[in-house]
Amino acid sequence: MTTNDLRALDLVPEAVVVVDGDGRLRYGNDRAAALLGVGPSALGQRLCDVVSLVDDSGEPIARGFTATALPPGHRLAERVVQLVRPDGRRRPVAVSGRRAAEDLVLTFRSAGRRERVDRARSNLVATVSHEIRSPLTSVKGFTRTMLLRWDRFSDEQKRTMLQTVNEDADRVTRLLTELLDVSRIDAGRVQLRRQLVDIAGIVYAVADKVAHRPEGGGRDLGVTVDRALGQVFVDPDKFEQMLTNLVENALKYAPDSRVEVHAAAEDATLHVQVADHGPGIPLDQQRRIFEKFGRGRGERRTGTGLGLYITRGLAEAHGGRVWCESEAGKGSIFHVVLPLSAPEPRQPA
Ligand code: ADP
Repeated sequence: MTTNDLRALDLVPEAVVVVDGDGRLRYGNDRAAALLGVGPSALGQRLCDVVSLVDDSGEPIARGFTATALPPGHRLAERVVQLVRPDGRRRPVAVSGRRAAEDLVLTFRSAGRRERVDRARSNLVATVSHEIRSPLTSVKGFTRTMLLRWDRFSDEQKRTMLQTVNEDADRVTRLLTELLDVSRIDAGRVQLRRQLVDIAGIVYAVADKVAHRPEGGGRDLGVTVDRALGQVFVDPDKFEQMLTNLVENALKYAPDSRVEVHAAAEDATLHVQVADHGPGIPLDQQRRIFEKFGRGRGERRTGTGLGLYITRGLAEAHGGRVWCESEAGKGSIFHVVLPLSAPEPRQPA
């Protein structure tokens, strides 16, 4: 690009930087200096050395912004990435680009709250559509096959197909139930019916119920409940839901390992741990799995990625928290901590 071309970019209302084939900065307008902090002293340096940009999973991406990475005439479609400031705080920015002669022109603009909400909404619609479409495709396929060739199948074959249809219908129902939980959590409208509950009874009942489901494979779970643990003031259904999710996950993701559930009173809290010796969860994914639709990288097993988000939401509604401790290859321990008793009524000021 000529010097005049570059000067014309001063008039553009967005932050613009121009990098060469090696990703070295040739130009940045005033808005780029304000948004990205690339002043005149940054010229000649590589963009990736002066600006930290990461994708949703925290991977640095600025190294890929070079003119040679994009064939002449091509454009980089706009995407929202995170700008990491020197103090470590992140800010979402939308970046797009086009190749101009030997250079790459990159345009950045701040991606505001509305954009993040829109993006979250379209991710939600895409994920939900996919999650509903795949079981429905299977329901449609099996019912159509049976209707067309009813007489050609044995009773056993028909039973197998109907079982699959039944499971797929359950899958859609489960997803819809989870989505309702998610919408209550997001709106801060989780209704707790707290009462004094015998936690040991629920812990043993959940372990028994989950282990004896077909997917639990009749596996024995190690359950220990501290004798000193008396009654706890929680919503029994919500507590059961949280624990069921953690135990089901342990059985699903650590299929060949022993699973242990431990509940005890600690200070003024109930501390429940669900431990397995399965594949574990790499550190960089441990936060993501508690997010909406957050699943482990490359995870293919059935699941919606909503279970831990709901578990966290229910624990927080009780004034508690959930977290995981895990090392890849060694297993995971999921912790739930809830207050033992009702919060003290507030004293008038
Ligand atoms: P889902 O099981 O429907 O995918 P969850 O929110 O319950 O959704 O779990 C999110 C992700 O966390 C899972 O997809 C899986 O990658 C990971 N995960 C959860 N529990 C374990 C575990 N015990 N061991 C290994 N990975 C786990």
